[in-house]
Amino acid sequence: MPEKTFYDEIVECLRLTRRNTPAVPVSSEVLTEFMTDMPKKKKDPVPAAAPVLRSAAPAPAPKTQSVSPSPAGPAKNIAAMDWNGLEAAVMQCRGCRLCETRQNVVFEDGSRQAELLFFGEGPGADEDAQGIPFVGRAGELLTKMIRAMQFSREEVYICNTVKCRPPGNRNPEPDETEACRAFAERQIELVRPKVIVILGAVPLRFLFPQIYGGIRSLRGKWLEYKGIRVMPTYHPAYLLRTPSAKADAWKDLQQVMAVFGKTVPPKR
Ligand code: URA
Repeated sequence: MPEKTFYDEIVECLRLTRRNTPAVPVSSEVLTEFMTDMPKKKKDPVPAAAPVLRSAAPAPAPKTQSVSPSPAGPAKNIAAMDWNGLEAAVMQCRGCRLCETRQNVVFEDGSRQAELLFFGEGPGADEDAQGIPFVGRAGELLTKMIRAMQFSREEVYICNTVKCRPPGNRNPEPDETEACRAFAERQIELVRPKVIVILGAVPLRFLFPQIYGGIRSLRGKWLEYKGIRVMPTYHPAYLLRTPSAKADAWKDLQQVMAVFGKTVPPKR
């Protein structure tokens, strides 16, 4: 008997899920892109820089910024800022040590009118180089997740807890996320989406500092943030390392799709 591929296992797992939740059928075609992003073996060469994901346009020049060495903390009155004021304040921020090592501030991607907002952790090397969130390998997978949900990257909004890259891709420290808190909160308030998808443990802790439980126990469970429905799920970087978790992530994303009246047609 031919050996089962990872993809066969995932589809089988999803079929079982479908049997238990018939209202949310699953199409293997739509899932293919999302599910076939297998993690690289350790020995593989480091992949070339990920392609820019903003449609077919040429690579955008990194957003330039002149950062003065002065104000020590973030700008005041962030909660009252409009988009122009907020973006300008973020671009000039020197509110924590991350400004010392960044190449670019990574503010946002997508539509400010979006009904669906993806909230990540913080920029990595590719994002720091381009000034755009989620453009590296994890970003490629996030784009596949968004497409599997029948949205485009352009119609959702994407941002992070911190806007500058933590060196070495470490998690942001609590004082760094706190220094960025007012910016991210204002971003969410200005977009005011119908649903926020939290990607991983750091943004979960950021929006729900008091809640008991980590991403493993809270993923797939609806939460509420300032009247907005919130679905925590795994971070795409974790899914790249642990492809078997994609089946759970897909269940979470289907719950979000259902809010927007989107379902996956059953496989014929
Ligand atoms: N991981 C994140 O959490 N955010 C990014 O922008 C890129 C990778």
